Amino acid sequence: MSQVKELKEHMIAGPAIKDFPFFIQWHLTERCNLRCRHCYQGGEKVREMTANEVKREIDGATQMFQAWEQEHGIRVSPSIHFTGGEPFLYDGLWEVMAYAKEKGYGVAMMTNGCLVTEEDANRAFGLGISDIQVSLEGPPDLHASIRGKESFNAAARGVEHLVAAGNRVSANVTLSRINVDQIEETVEIAREMGFYGIGFSRIVPCGRGKALLDQFLTPDELKSAYQKIISLNTPSFEVLSGDPLAGTLSGTRPPSGCNLTLSGCSAGFSGVTITSDGSVMPCRRIGLIAGNLKKKSLRAIWASSRLLWQLRRRESYSGKCGRCSLWPSCRGCRAVAYAHSLIQRQPDLFADDPQCWVTPSPHPSPLSGEGKDEGKGDAR
Ligand code: SF4
Ligand code: SF4
Repeated sequence: MSQVKELKEHMIAGPAIKDFPFFIQWHLTERCNLRCRHCYQGGEKVREMTANEVKREIDGATQMFQAWEQEHGIRVSPSIHFTGGEPFLYDGLWEVMAYAKEKGYGVAMMTNGCLVTEEDANRAFGLGISDIQVSLEGPPDLHASIRGKESFNAAARGVEHLVAAGNRVSANVTLSRINVDQIEETVEIAREMGFYGIGFSRIVPCGRGKALLDQFLTPDELKSAYQKIISLNTPSFEVLSGDPLAGTLSGTRPPSGCNLTLSGCSAGFSGVTITSDGSVMPCRRIGLIAGNLKKKSLRAIWASSRLLWQLRRRESYSGKCGRCSLWPSCRGCRAVAYAHSLIQRQPDLFADDPQCWVTPSPHPSPLSGEGKDEGKGDAR
């Protein structure tokens, strides 16, 4: 199959048939005012793209989406999630966010919240930022033990300004053994702080996070945590996890014999990361580079990178994911799998996700018709 045809199939499959949501996570800077214990970034000094360069690349992304729509007959809903490091340390933040908004993007941001002033909060509301995600690790002392002294109070002040100005503000928790017993309390704190909801993600053992390897949850512990998180979700307060493994608990199953990415890990499929020096990565936490915008357009990188193509193809996944009937809607967290393989000195982007609790039922071959299991992975 030609790459263009295959790319089309990857983009129009499943729920994306009419409307394909695609996000760019844009790390404007590596600089940060905090040094969190689990951070996957090293705080390297790199030459950051100027605001004008970022705006030019936003135009490049727009051309890519327009070409997809024309060539593949789909509608793309693109969004850009600006982050860092700490995005409030980037001088051109307001300029690039306003530009992205003007060009029709959904604009969101991810921040530690500590530097947000009342003026920033009003400005964000004026711009119509769709979601401002602020990191929260748990109750104040626990938060401070991960993010540093005074970090809770500073973030709480930032959240207060953002909420008072009318912004939609959500909390994001990085889950580990350090805070897993405080899930309910953390949800309550987030509700009281004025967040509209809270999301949970997993720690990735890379960067400073490598030192927290003993705080990683076992597959069964992670499963229990996600079950609890799902049970706390209510119409009035969103409690969720975007982790592909949490998605396996929903009970929905991809069509039997499907070999296309439908949902799950966005790497190579429905999202891409751009870092402050123009590097394009499948996901910031994976850290592998697919290309650089100084040398190639985003469209060319997305269509031709071997790394991105490997992530899209089932045959790359030599371990249990490749055999699993949930592959189209899961694929585990490639960042966690890769980071663990690096620690074991056997680097493999397609290694098993070490926190997966599922015993895969066989993936039926579309040619042989063998192993017809109606797509039931054993998501115990
Ligand atoms: S083996 Fe686990 S991580 Fe891999 S696709 Fe199946 S459920 Fe997901
Ligand atoms: S690698 Fe992990 S963190 Fe990155 S997009 Fe996939 S699931 Fe999310």
